[in-house]
Amino acid sequence: MTLELMPEALSTFANTTAQQFITPPNYKKSTTGQVCSRCIYDESTPSIVFDAQGVCNYCNLHDVMDAQYPTGAKGHEILMAQVAQMKERGKNNAFDCVIGVSGGCDSSYLVWQLKQWGLRPLAAHFDNTWNSPIATQNIYKVLNKLDVELFTIVADSREYNDICRAFMLSGVKDIEAPTDIALAATCYKAAEKYNIPYIINGHSFRTEGVSPHGWIYFDGQYVKSVHKQYGTMPLKTYPNLDLFNFIKWTAFSGIAQLRPLYHLDYDKEATKKFLAQEFGWEWYGGHHLENRFTAFYHSYFIPRRTSYDMRMLGFAACTRSGQMTRDEALAEMAKPPQCEADVIQLVKTRLGFSDEEFERVLDLPLVPYTEFKTYKPFFEKARPFFWLMYKLDRVPKSFYLKYCFPGSQGVNKPAG
Ligand SMILES: [Zn+2]
Repeated sequence: MTLELMPEALSTFANTTAQQFITPPNYKKSTTGQVCSRCIYDESTPSIVFDAQGVCNYCNLHDVMDAQYPTGAKGHEILMAQVAQMKERGKNNAFDCVIGVSGGCDSSYLVWQLKQWGLRPLAAHFDNTWNSPIATQNIYKVLNKLDVELFTIVADSREYNDICRAFMLSGVKDIEAPTDIALAATCYKAAEKYNIPYIINGHSFRTEGVSPHGWIYFDGQYVKSVHKQYGTMPLKTYPNLDLFNFIKWTAFSGIAQLRPLYHLDYDKEATKKFLAQEFGWEWYGGHHLENRFTAFYHSYFIPRRTSYDMRMLGFAACTRSGQMTRDEALAEMAKPPQCEADVIQLVKTRLGFSDEEFERVLDLPLVPYTEFKTYKPFFEKARPFFWLMYKLDRVPKSFYLKYCFPGSQGVNKPAG
């Protein structure tokens, strides 16, 4: 076990009681105009269309995926075949698969599940030095008890702060792109280092949903070009994912990506209780809030900078899969997003923004990712190749659909 931690990540927020919360200024209620009669997406959602019954195309996509990735007995059969395959291909290795862990509910549960199936996972974690202490403790609690080893890449905190600051100064909305890219790179590096042919992805479209086109964009070239223009120091510890490695790992290494949650009867609330009982795992109060910068991105930055609200994804998904009623989801969405005041202060302090500069940066005109160099034009040209990669489980279907087709500019103008 080699979890290295930046001391500041542990000490800054030792006491999280009696927090003050802040709602982003000018926040407007997310549901405006026509709202889907089945989920809670509204007409401001990019590329949305409603059928005669008032059901949106994202609900239809859910149903297509629901049929494509069955749960129950059929799902179990598929999973057992995948487990047998992993054991067979991993029999001469120390590990059968790599799984990215964050201390969150989905990945913690999956590590347990993989062990139940008799697999030998290697956990992988990208530490961007903004972890909440609860998340770090969760990682330890689960991996220690299950005797799972951890492969971790720790970014230099000054370097990572420089990346975050560059993304905020650039005016784009994708300030979490560097973390998403680095986590993918960390999993591939772990797989390559230990010759592991499978990466387990903890995504669940039934609880997390599939983000609308244009809500999120990230690739390695994007991180590089934003940082080149707005950053101040060379990137030495940040594990970027460049095109050469991406193609090497997806096409030539034989590493396959599997998403077991697509085939499991996965109930998030029940899982949280189970993890708490089994491992002393703690819930940190919201999806993706296990990391301070992610919390800022979801609960403050995005609702302030754009017309959308990331909570919508999960609530809509749970409505479609019957884990939440539509009324419950609408009631949750009616509560404005809130961010801990300390988290906002931490962002200002670590990124070196004065109060005035912070406000100025958050009021910059929104800049689309297309203003920067990205791999998107290449992905579009190489669409047939990535279709094949999707069919071989080398890239997720969502990657093929979102990255390989010309799409929205990635900017939603703030409503009103
Ligand atoms: Zn819908």
